Amino acid sequence: MPAWSVCPGCALQLPASGQPPDRRQNASPECWAVYGEVLGFELGHLVPLGKYHQLMVDTYGAQHAGNDARSIRVTYSLVGLFLTLERGRDGLEVRRAHQRMGKPDPSWPSFDRPRDVGTVTVLDVAEAGVRAGSVVGHADAVGRWARSVWQAWSAQHRAAGALAGRLLGDAGLMR
Ligand SMILES: [Zn+2]
Repeated sequence: MPAWSVCPGCALQLPASGQPPDRRQNASPECWAVYGEVLGFELGHLVPLGKYHQLMVDTYGAQHAGNDARSIRVTYSLVGLFLTLERGRDGLEVRRAHQRMGKPDPSWPSFDRPRDVGTVTVLDVAEAGVRAGSVVGHADAVGRWARSVWQAWSAQHRAAGALAGRLLGDAGLMR
């Protein structure tokens, strides 16, 4: 029986590799390795999958939020999920929005991590995508994962949208 590791971010359980946890990512090394596997598949299929890259980054970031509720990572991740899932913006537009947001300041809200960050994880994306050799499976699973994580953060939807509106302007949010 292998020892199991539990990811501090997404609670994913995987056979332990013996590596130390990645504190900056708030992820188990095993979860982080699966994320790397998924990113590698995306890199190998950039034309169909590159457009989901920013959504993956923001979904992983929101699901692996640590104890710092004012970190730039959790804030950018939630605004990215808001812009993508609620406003239909694409990855390039989200990256531009992040650049315009700048660095956190004390007027930004704190985003306390929910107890439940959703049951879909990066492992579901790996199994539907890279491990099945399926570009369509990868794309579908990223969407399911992102919606699941965003739903888990529903108590903060209003705050994330309000921050996006304040920093980016309503015009920046509407098509
Ligand atoms: Zn994880």
